[in-house]
Amino acid sequence: ASRRAAEIARRMLVGARDAIAAEADRLGELDAIAGDGDHGIGMTRGLTAAVEAAESADAAIGVRELLQRAGDAWSETAGGTSGALWGAALAEVGLSLGSPEDFTAADVATAVAAAHARVAALGGAEPGDKTMLDAMAPFDETLTERVHAGSGIADALAAAATAARAGAEATSAMSPRRGRARPLAERSIGHPDPGAVSFSIIAAALAGWVAD
Ligand code: ADP
Ligand code: MG
Ligand code: MG
Repeated sequence: ASRRAAEIARRMLVGARDAIAAEADRLGELDAIAGDGDHGIGMTRGLTAAVEAAESADAAIGVRELLQRAGDAWSETAGGTSGALWGAALAEVGLSLGSPEDFTAADVATAVAAAHARVAALGGAEPGDKTMLDAMAPFDETLTERVHAGSGIADALAAAATAARAGAEATSAMSPRRGRARPLAERSIGHPDPGAVSFSIIAAALAGWVAD
């Protein structure tokens, strides 16, 4: 029914997996500063499972069902907080997009806003708590702003990825108020949050993929 949209989602997952795999060691080191050091491994494992679920799905599957399966595979395989949050985010993007033949920039912005709201509700974190939300919130806000101002998807995603990166960098100065890093919070000051950094890596990969 909606092969093209599902194929785009599949290729984006592959791009995200490759970008994360290339940075997995650095993400693990960042997570080891105040967390348990498994963020690079968990993200790689989760994304690998998500890609496998997407690639083994029927070719005619809609994007909604595809992202639901990929998200389930991600959270089940990754374990950990970020796996649960990313799995839910993927499913939410699928729910929001539905299963159209194609999607517009506005559809993408709406889906990202829905995923952002889901991650915020599920994790209970707020901007400034030093989590992936500190990259996701500026990503969503910039994407929505640019799309409403009339930018095409490539320009809007590029600006959003830049905002996500700035958001991730800004977490260096923060003290973690959520997740496993909280007990060793003071150690983490001066280093960015691993989940915010991995978010910005995925954002950059998506923006680069769309620009090509
Ligand atoms: P775990 O902490 O279970 O080992 P990961 O290491 O994969 O999981 O992920 C850690 C990241 O998860 C953190 O760097 C942070 O960005 C994110 N995170 C942790 N708790 C929350 C939360 N409540 N809301 C949003 N993000 C969170
Ligand atoms: Mg961890
Ligand atoms: Mg862990």
